Amino acid sequence: MRVTILGAGIIGVTTAWELLKTGHEVSIIDRQKAPALETSFGNAGLIAPGHSYAWTTPKLPGNLLKSIFKRQQAFRFKWQWDPNMWRWGLQFLLQCRRSKMKENTLRKHTLSVYSQKLFQKLTNELEIDYHQNRKGLIYIFRTPESFLEGKAKMEILMDNMENLQLLSTEELLAKEPSLKNMESPPAGGIYCPTDESGCCHDFTTALAALCEKKGVRFHYNTKVESFQCNERKLKVINTDKREFETDVCVMALAAYSPLMAKKAGDYLPIYPVKGNSLTVPILDTEKAPDHSGIDEDNLLAFSMMGDKIRFTSVAEISGYDTSCTPADFTAMTQQAESLFPGAMDFSHPEYWAGLRPMTPNGAPIFGRGKLENLFYNTGHGHLGWTMCAGSAKITADIINNQAPEISLAGMTIGTA
Ligand SMILES: Cc1cc2nc3c(=O)[nH]c(=O)nc-3n(C[C@H](O)[C@H](O)[C@H](O)COP(=O)(O)OP(=O)(O)OC[C@H]3O[C@@H](n4cnc5c(N)ncnc54)[C@H](O)[C@@H]3O)c2cc1C
Repeated sequence: MRVTILGAGIIGVTTAWELLKTGHEVSIIDRQKAPALETSFGNAGLIAPGHSYAWTTPKLPGNLLKSIFKRQQAFRFKWQWDPNMWRWGLQFLLQCRRSKMKENTLRKHTLSVYSQKLFQKLTNELEIDYHQNRKGLIYIFRTPESFLEGKAKMEILMDNMENLQLLSTEELLAKEPSLKNMESPPAGGIYCPTDESGCCHDFTTALAALCEKKGVRFHYNTKVESFQCNERKLKVINTDKREFETDVCVMALAAYSPLMAKKAGDYLPIYPVKGNSLTVPILDTEKAPDHSGIDEDNLLAFSMMGDKIRFTSVAEISGYDTSCTPADFTAMTQQAESLFPGAMDFSHPEYWAGLRPMTPNGAPIFGRGKLENLFYNTGHGHLGWTMCAGSAKITADIINNQAPEISLAGMTIGTA
């Protein structure tokens, strides 16, 4: 069949690869000039089933409220008059009940573990260079209070992930000696030996090149504008360049999916949550970490990218604005320097901001809506890199009329 994928981020490109393997004629349309230039560009790069916790917790509504007055919080909310934000926001807040936390975490965890297994198979087959780091991820707690909270959260995953290890201060410093340079030693850590990291942009770009070699047609600089449909089927995709006829369409437009889904008659509960990313050269390898991971007190992720380190933080509900200024990175820079003093050169920072496509329960949306040949693979929130290979396989299975290998409860239109 002719399958047209909308969006050449990590989700669209891995889906193209999967569909190609099962014999389809695949095209991808993207408004950018190359793959992975939006959310998949500057993310933290963590592949972290060991950290697939629900963001919606009983504490979150209070933190969001405080952020209206205190701008430096990692979780932030900016007041605005967007009815889509309020509709989504209400559903998001309803997921903050304690009873939902475990259910939402385990759903994301199951997809993340499934996805990582397929991702590793793919990377072993393809030998793509993307700064792969398979030393495991470390989760660092600066204070006894945050360590206690971390231990309590870890309980949710323990039944499904026996390899999570609690580390005392001494054990953490032995595992990651660069932390010995911190002014005050951390209270402890959690180590997940099977979590990993790598550059999502480099991987997506390389996989797109392989897709192209094998016959996938890429239409860049092409903006999808609307659809021509009859009652049951999508017939033609209208873009600012030309019309595309297709048998099947997959929507992988991340935070922009709900805007286009509306034109196909579907409501998708997805809203952008902005994050900031700072990439800096390593100055002193002795002081730089071996592992990637997260400073849990500051919700600061860090990831080794060859001779650079990337830090990401901030979850801001503020609409579709992706602008950022150096002032937005002042707190992150201080936190990064206090974690690995003297390791980085902050005189050449690369600043970036991107939009996480968040659903209320934090899991993506798969399958059909009103039209029988339009399929969704979108809304991967803060874990799209972690969930990419599994999401691609699920989408290909659905299109090929095969049962997905994991339950999609809570991950389809109407259940998400
Ligand atoms: C700061 C930050 C840190 C993150 N860290 C991690 C992490 O450590 N681990 C992890 O697993 N995930 C992480 N994520 C999440 C992850 O980056 C996303 O879930 C993932 O990139 C989403 O991929 P995508 O392909 O759906 O979106 P995108 O990469 O945004 O792809 C969507 C594509 O659609 C195109 N598009 C949109 N509208 C149109 C249109 N009308 N016409 C044509 N093309 C269009 C865009 O150009 C874009 O290329 C992070 C995200 C952020 C912002």
